[in-house]
Amino acid sequence: MDFTTSDLQALLTDLADRMRAERDHLCALDGAIGDADHGIAMEQGMVAAAAAAREVTDGTLQDIFNAAAKGFLNAVGASSGPLYATAFMRAGKALGPEKSVPRDSLRQVIVAMAEGIAHRGKAEAGQKTMLDAWLPAAEAASAGADPAAIAAAATEGA
Ligand SMILES: [Mg+2]
Repeated sequence: MDFTTSDLQALLTDLADRMRAERDHLCALDGAIGDADHGIAMEQGMVAAAAAAREVTDGTLQDIFNAAAKGFLNAVGASSGPLYATAFMRAGKALGPEKSVPRDSLRQVIVAMAEGIAHRGKAEAGQKTMLDAWLPAAEAASAGADPAAIAAAATEGA
């Protein structure tokens, strides 16, 4: 079954719920090296991204990702704002102006988001940034790994 615009809207809403659940954990991790606000930024950003995505009626997958990018960017002043906004815009470009795509195309989303974050952040693997999780995930996705293995690659990188 193909991945549709309503699937994407639901996925972004699930991610917002997940960020709410992980907020305190992310803040604690950030507190070890920074100002302990990363969980707040990620929750606010994903809630705004999901809300903006749900407002798109009769749009394409690219329209929804672009709306999510704008929502995230407007909600988050921290550096994660432009990083995720770029990632979402790259994801939209990867899927294109389509209303549905084969589920296997979601591999390209992971790769495109990783590349977008690397480009915007001018960073690479091994610099203790989120790319240490994103890049192994992108590599696994490109190599045809199943979703659990892609997630495991990200976890191991982190
Ligand atoms: Mg911080």
